[in-house]
Amino acid sequence: MTIYNFEDDASHMNLDQMYMREAYKLAQKAYEEDEVPIGAIIVSHGKIIGKGYNLTERLNDVTAHAEMQAFTAAANYLGGKYLKDCTLYVTVEPCVMCAGASYWTQISKIVYGAKDEKRGYASINPKIVHPKTEVIAGVMEAECRELMQQFFKSKR
Ligand SMILES: [Zn+2]
Repeated sequence: MTIYNFEDDASHMNLDQMYMREAYKLAQKAYEEDEVPIGAIIVSHGKIIGKGYNLTERLNDVTAHAEMQAFTAAANYLGGKYLKDCTLYVTVEPCVMCAGASYWTQISKIVYGAKDEKRGYASINPKIVHPKTEVIAGVMEAECRELMQQFFKSKR
């Protein structure tokens, strides 16, 4: 009698997808505000402790990426700058700035959706992420990529 027999990997995947959906909602919010649609959340022990979406236009600040805001929010929440036992969910592969910031936070895990061939950190310098940080790519990849493509198409 098989009732629930989730494999460990499968349940992790569901959890990652569930949290990525939250990051995706923030990306949609960015889209609605005419910002490049990238969203990010930080999860610690099953709780969302930081959120952010791209605000470079509104704040007129090239550093106002979704991840940077989520890092700051999470550090404020925790009352400490290190994000150990935390996972960053972000809809698009982090750029070198955000990957570099993640290094300083010593975050445990990064999960991202769509790959960014041009500005993603991995094709520029994969070592910029902390060696102890686990990276998982491609969660909700199609949706995250599509949102970006839609946005840039509308800009042309
Ligand atoms: Zn960035």
